[in-house]
Amino acid sequence: MRKHIVAGNWKMNNDLPQTELLITELLKQNKTSDAEVMVAPTFTNLWQAFESLRQESIEVIAQNMHFAENGAYTGEISASMLKSIGIETVILGHSERRAYFNETDESLAKKVDAALANDMRIIFCFGEELADRKSGNHEAIVESQIKNALFHLEADAFKNIVLAYEPVWAIGTGETASPEQAQDMHAFIRKTLAVKYGNDVAESVSILYGGSVKPNNAKEIFGKPDVDGGLIGGAALKAEDFYAIVNAF
Ligand code: PEP
Repeated sequence: MRKHIVAGNWKMNNDLPQTELLITELLKQNKTSDAEVMVAPTFTNLWQAFESLRQESIEVIAQNMHFAENGAYTGEISASMLKSIGIETVILGHSERRAYFNETDESLAKKVDAALANDMRIIFCFGEELADRKSGNHEAIVESQIKNALFHLEADAFKNIVLAYEPVWAIGTGETASPEQAQDMHAFIRKTLAVKYGNDVAESVSILYGGSVKPNNAKEIFGKPDVDGGLIGGAALKAEDFYAIVNAF
């Protein structure tokens, strides 16, 4: 069976005391589902979060990394630096990285390679813009994002890859894809994987949905057969809301 995963992307929110407070609140919550739980604090708080959660069943993950191993890349952080503080998983390709920091399929392919070379697990994000959805181009866009960044990999690499379909028009907007829209796209993504890598790989990869998932809509979205979890932004900043989503499985 595929893993259920709920990952909280804290983005550029929470300084150190706020991070510690949120972690304290998370640890008071009761987990009743089988979902793996992950949280992605900002870089400055990764180590503290890792220390606080190392004995707990919440994995601390990174929001981004550079593709180079080291060198003259002021302001950047490498996979091996993340690994050296215990971080095993990184989010790559979030739409905010693509939109505001010019991340492209090509640079993401390099990041994917660097993460895998360092034995990291990847949550790889992609999704169409509203105009693509309106013009009926959404499947073609998603297919090209996946192919360009991931299809140079061998099938084995997908053991360490989780996909996150995040329609840009649903991120932080309060507008969610309907459970049917999410299911249709997830089934399309799985079919795209199956064509290239075969059914076994396609059936084994967890595909998360992201975009305004909240306690009141998570159950319906997670109830769809090809939705294996969620990447959660806004609602991940409140421990109770986040665990209501985790427990929606
Ligand atoms: C995200 O940023 O990945 C996200 C899904 O945000 P939100 O839940 O706030 O839409």
